[in-house]
Amino acid sequence: MRNLPKLCIVIPCYNEEEVLPITAPLFLKKILSLINLEKISTNSKILFIDDGSKDETWNLINEMAHQNKYYIGIRQSRNRGHQNAVLAGLMEAKENFDITISIDCDGQDDIDAMDKMVDAYLDGCEVVYGVRSSRITDTFFKRYTAESFYRLLNALGAEIVFNHADYRLISSKVLHEFANFKEVNIFLRGMVPLVGFKSTSVYYDRKERVAGKSNYSLKKMISLAFDGITSLSVKPIRIITSLGIFVSFLSFLMIIWIIVSFFIGNTVQGWASTCALVSFIGGIQLVCTGVIGEYIGKIYLETKARPRYIISERTYDEEE
Ligand code: UDP
Ligand code: MG
Repeated sequence: MRNLPKLCIVIPCYNEEEVLPITAPLFLKKILSLINLEKISTNSKILFIDDGSKDETWNLINEMAHQNKYYIGIRQSRNRGHQNAVLAGLMEAKENFDITISIDCDGQDDIDAMDKMVDAYLDGCEVVYGVRSSRITDTFFKRYTAESFYRLLNALGAEIVFNHADYRLISSKVLHEFANFKEVNIFLRGMVPLVGFKSTSVYYDRKERVAGKSNYSLKKMISLAFDGITSLSVKPIRIITSLGIFVSFLSFLMIIWIIVSFFIGNTVQGWASTCALVSFIGGIQLVCTGVIGEYIGKIYLETKARPRYIISERTYDEEE
């Protein structure tokens, strides 16, 4: 009999004490059913990453890990955000497992899609994206902003899978390559396609949170969007260049107009247009400087090459 792949389900958790007792048994049920179906090895695990929670989340994870061998956990030394928590989990899992599936812990992503993901892996895919086929349970605002965000990113030249968040299967082979992407500003769903390898998508319906409330505030969403665009695309810089050319062309026309007006003799007029123009250019320059500054900020952070995550505790020995 061929070796069954060892699966690690990677689950970031931040202040999820209300949610974990409900969803953790569901993940366990799923992993046991996959083992029974002889799709994955009995050494598969469910890895919780506590992203520096301020509530009882870490204690819960610890308790679960002591009660059931399928549960394991790591804890980040402080809250670093969802993307870094998932990354920490994936990097932790890549050495000891053949495949990882990252999923949110709030039960919004359909756990049953994991069967299809594992099937796709067994058929030879190294990356399987979970794609939301509908967003009816999201608020109009969330749906609208999220979908516009995917469109904007694609228009700016970043290659991302439409309506795919961070529910995906990645093989350890891909993760080992992915580990060489050393950037600090991480936007996983835009970076994974850059690694390449054979991939496919499975579709599922996004549900409502089982309990608790979303930790993705508008502020975190905007900052994720900004990171996504500036980490993946240099188009904003090109747009500035085009804008600069366009404004220079306009100014050239203005100069001709000014010279003509001078010879006609009505130079006192035009004060308003001059003022308008000065402020217009001032505004554009400010916007441009801001965007360029954003990139310089990124360069600054990348050159520091800080560790992207620090694990302070484990429910097991590192050598295991
Ligand atoms: N999360 C995290 N760190 C954070 C914020 C969120 O690890 O700083 C986790 C959270 O526990 C959940 C997942 O990321 O498992 C998605 O978060 P949430 O459900 O709040 O976001 P939404 O589904 O509303 O986009
Ligand atoms: Mg959620």
